[in-house]
Amino acid sequence: MKRVYNFSAGPSMLPEQVLRRAADEMLDYQGSGQSVMEMSHRSKVYQGIIDSAESLLREVMNIPDTYKVLFLQGGASSQFAMVPMNLMTKSGKADFVLTGQWATKAYKEAARYGDAHVVASSKDKTFSYIPKLDPSTFTPDADYFHICLNNTIYGTKFHTLPDTGNVPLVADISSCIVSEPIDVSKFALLYAGAQKNLAPAGLTVVIIREDLIGHAMDITPTMFNYQTHSDNGSMFNTPPCYSIYMAMLVLDWLKNTIGGLEEMKKINEKKANMLYSFLDQSSLFHGTVVPEDRSLMNIPFVTGNDEMDVKFVKAATEAGFVNLKGHRTVGGMRASIYNAMPVEGVEKLVDFMAKFEKENK
Ligand SMILES: *Cc1c(COP(=O)(O)O)cnc(C)c1O
Repeated sequence: MKRVYNFSAGPSMLPEQVLRRAADEMLDYQGSGQSVMEMSHRSKVYQGIIDSAESLLREVMNIPDTYKVLFLQGGASSQFAMVPMNLMTKSGKADFVLTGQWATKAYKEAARYGDAHVVASSKDKTFSYIPKLDPSTFTPDADYFHICLNNTIYGTKFHTLPDTGNVPLVADISSCIVSEPIDVSKFALLYAGAQKNLAPAGLTVVIIREDLIGHAMDITPTMFNYQTHSDNGSMFNTPPCYSIYMAMLVLDWLKNTIGGLEEMKKINEKKANMLYSFLDQSSLFHGTVVPEDRSLMNIPFVTGNDEMDVKFVKAATEAGFVNLKGHRTVGGMRASIYNAMPVEGVEKLVDFMAKFEKENK
């Protein structure tokens, strides 16, 4: 068996230890005589899995008791509609910072349901930085203020949060969930598609302050109302059973093998620093993001020559470093180095890049 180093932005690598455990438990989950894929979501044994996934997430992320954890479907993209339908119901206004394609999609979707206001944008420079924010430009009576905390495509991250006062801060954390500690109490609502850093595709995690539940617009479909899922322990209908189980295994790995998010952060910083340091001294490759806004998870880089980029991606693929092609709007390359990417994978990539650089001067 040969496994590649997979730098995909999502779906992406899962920890090998987790995949092995899932394989071991595939035919007979803990003496139940069934796979988790086959069992009733109403069974006692499955209830144990979803409860344990939630309690591990609460423990690993240090989520206060005043927040609900919901396991939903529909991807982060459904949250672009679900958030306004549930929250944009008092003044009907919300503020947005446009730091990339996902943030822009969240804004455009919200604009269908209310008065969506763009506070700032970094589109002028292909979203290669996080705009400086001036709180005097924020809408004082907004129902919420939306940011995309880590911008998967462009490789930027908010290293300081906007000061929104009493306005609830909502963040898309799809590509940085459980990559480092985050103070949940600073946010009113956090959401993430699981397929970047938590589980296979199919699961969307929502962490919402309890007082924000129960105010949805009348037009809100039952399935899009947070209340529906909150009242039913994320079991109003069949949940994404297997993805929740995989999230449980990943969280167990984070807690017991890695030792929690402080430790995970150190490892992620080590990996990112290795790649950024190489890019900063390279005569062939360079990063596309301003240093102060760099992401720990997604690192775009280019040679400045499209043909050379293509040549590099092809050579890297042949050497077992896959999915390094950059997003079409940035070009070049992007290395997504989520939790499951081992340190060794980045070390070897950097060695390979150095060798490629020498051979292509
Ligand atoms: C991948 C991604 C999305 C889209 O997620 P889906 O689950 O495919 O809808 C949204 N926001 C961010 C930041 C992402 O990285």
